Amino acid sequence: MSPSPRQLASLRRNLLAWYRANRRDLPWRRGRDPYRIWLAEIMLQQTRIAAVLPYYERFLERFPNVRELARARESEVLKYWAGLGYYSRARNLHRAAKIIVQDHCAQFPRELKQALALPGIGPYTAAAILSIAFDVPLAALDGNVARVLARLFAVRGDLRAPTTWRKLAAAAQTLLPSRTSGDWNQAMMELGETICTPRSPNCAACPIARHCKARALGIAEKLPAARQKRAPANVHIAAAVLVDTRGNTLLTKIPGAHDSVLFSRLWQFPAVAIASNGNSKRDPAQGSVHHSANSAADKLAEHLRASLGIPEQALTPLPVAAHTVTFRRITLAPFLARVSRLPKRPCCRTLPLAKLARLPISSATKKIARVAINALAQ
Ligand code: SF4
Repeated sequence: MSPSPRQLASLRRNLLAWYRANRRDLPWRRGRDPYRIWLAEIMLQQTRIAAVLPYYERFLERFPNVRELARARESEVLKYWAGLGYYSRARNLHRAAKIIVQDHCAQFPRELKQALALPGIGPYTAAAILSIAFDVPLAALDGNVARVLARLFAVRGDLRAPTTWRKLAAAAQTLLPSRTSGDWNQAMMELGETICTPRSPNCAACPIARHCKARALGIAEKLPAARQKRAPANVHIAAAVLVDTRGNTLLTKIPGAHDSVLFSRLWQFPAVAIASNGNSKRDPAQGSVHHSANSAADKLAEHLRASLGIPEQALTPLPVAAHTVTFRRITLAPFLARVSRLPKRPCCRTLPLAKLARLPISSATKKIARVAINALAQ
């Protein structure tokens, strides 16, 4: 994986010229404010650019700099993140902002070691921010860049295997120009996102095609080797939508008897896991769950009583909704309970069912609310 100095110079020249002529106009590329670059890098983790754009602008309007972010309450930060998922990113961003203000005079640290000490910043993110904001010569290696390198040097096998990843990291650092490392890293990412895509790489339009071993060998589309996917897990959740006569409902922060990742530790309807891994089947055509609705209601009623002290309610099953979080295929089974008055409990909030967005809530909670609102409108 070591091109000759001449090849290296040509490869760098071609890729940088292509990037400067073709780079997409993205909001975090206008200027070199480390705060804006940092925010973009965190939002883009596991999320597509198109999905990030509206959140990015809205977040920056409310938190235009690191001081504003550090000053904010976590609940407000989560509210502006709501819908993007992976909420630990927002919590870490907020914690890191406080550290930057307290320990670094509100300046993003330029030292790799200090950057890595911040919550939510790993080697890739640190290298991306430091190179793009300050041209620190650090190669940023993510999945897109790894794929480009694997094809460029015809690397076979699982790229995430530790020894292979280390070799790719070394190759990425070798290719990195000592100056303009920010442009270089972005050029590699841009190539992976727009030309050297996972399926059907557009080699005819590739600025570094003549250096590419996989192309020369005719195996570009076969690399990298497919990774073994984790088997999906089926999860079934029953959730109680309590609604009073004024259309208010109750959300809680008390986790139900279910995997806490499902509602991202945000405000949620009281909920409980009723089955997992194929113990029951969703029938999308009928919008129902083939486990016993009665047993689910019983379990939910028991949860309401034991965790929230809510006495037995008549729980009416509503249509189920499908949801996915990483490898989990979740069936959300909402139950409606009409009550004359919502109980007041610690760690609970009451608010209009139609205005849940006032609180940070996950996409799963939004789906449950939509089902309930539709049912109440009929
Ligand atoms: S030639 Fe094709 S496979 Fe090689 S780097 Fe370019 S797009 Fe990727």
